[in-house]
Amino acid sequence: MGEEKSYLAWMLDVLKRSVELGGFPEEVYHILSKPERVLAVSIPVRMDNGKLVVFEGYRVQHSSALGPYKGGVRFHPEVDLETDIALALGMTLKNSLSGLPYGGGKGAVKVDPTKLSPGELERVSRGYVRAIAPLIDDELDIPAPDVGTNPQIMIWMIDEYSKIRGRNVPGVFTGKPPELWGDPVRPYSTGYGVAVVAREIANRFLGGLEGLRVAIHGFGNVGSNAARFLSKFGAKIVAVSDLPGTLYNPNGLDVEKMIQLVQRAGGVKGLMEYSEPGTSKTASTEDALYADVDILVPASIENVININNAHKVKAKIIVEGANGPTTADAEKILYEKGTIIIPDILANAGGVIVSYLEWVENLQWFWWGEEETLKRLENIMINNVKRLLASYDKYSSSRGVKTYRETAFILAVERLYRAMKLRGWI
Ligand code: GLU
Repeated sequence: MGEEKSYLAWMLDVLKRSVELGGFPEEVYHILSKPERVLAVSIPVRMDNGKLVVFEGYRVQHSSALGPYKGGVRFHPEVDLETDIALALGMTLKNSLSGLPYGGGKGAVKVDPTKLSPGELERVSRGYVRAIAPLIDDELDIPAPDVGTNPQIMIWMIDEYSKIRGRNVPGVFTGKPPELWGDPVRPYSTGYGVAVVAREIANRFLGGLEGLRVAIHGFGNVGSNAARFLSKFGAKIVAVSDLPGTLYNPNGLDVEKMIQLVQRAGGVKGLMEYSEPGTSKTASTEDALYADVDILVPASIENVININNAHKVKAKIIVEGANGPTTADAEKILYEKGTIIIPDILANAGGVIVSYLEWVENLQWFWWGEEETLKRLENIMINNVKRLLASYDKYSSSRGVKTYRETAFILAVERLYRAMKLRGWI
């Protein structure tokens, strides 16, 4: 097994190279390589069995150059502060690239939410908010869902925060349920955006999406909605992997049926009840990564495509639904093979773009409805893809840029550089 750099270390390598390739002053790297502020908290929670457990949590405020800190909260047993810093840096770049008036941040609690009762989950969520409340607000730092959190958790958090402030503050968290202050597009916006990006990239490189074979790694919110819309746009979802195993059907899996099974079982274990003819099942959690497909959507977690397995990936195009799924070493291997990788900070920006729209709605106690939001989301995503492709053509011929990730980083850093210069930071 090859040893590889951590997620943060390889993100910083790409950032450094992009600052150099983009011709920005070194000071830009010095500022962006460190978070502005890091908060570490302890969350004591009384469990159902009467025992007290103290959970560890963080909120990383990476950059405020472009506006309030913005980024999700992750509930995951393996998260640590270093990973959270890498994720927060990713948010700064993602928000900049999409032209949002936001800096970047990310929060986390080291906990496995699938092992908690609903009551315990609520107490962890409220406890986390009490711990970070002094440093968040609707124009200061605006968290949202990420891996392991959802709209219900956002509402518990807002409810707790509103009690602390003594008034309703709907804009301090985004990704709320549509029934209470949430935008109706937000629950599926990340997956929808991934599908739009895949469609635009397939149009450019593979003559359209119709009939193309797609594999999805991770069937949570992002993966399942990406699968749903990719199949609506005419692609064939042939492989899906998640924790209980892999489903494979060369003629295409029925996405709506898989989503129903997962909903009915209350988790991805429901996938294994899928029994349409022609489908094979394996216990592997990663077979979808190696399926013979045109497009692969890694939509689970960071570092899943790495130095040890990149050579097994057959997809022509990778559209990153998760944050950081392809390590820098893996990207080198795939670049040599000619694989096109559309980086997370562009491909999965649909979530935070609709978070922004929801936040604008909340600040005005107003909303413009599903159709209008969807149109705005789609326009921003399509423009982002066009800008990425045009800039890649320009930079790869004139500046020695190799990957779409470097191109996306340069575009993101450019806007941050201008903001920091205007503010007099550099
Ligand atoms: N957690 C999502 C991300 O990584 C969304 C963040 C947000 O909506 O603020 O992009």
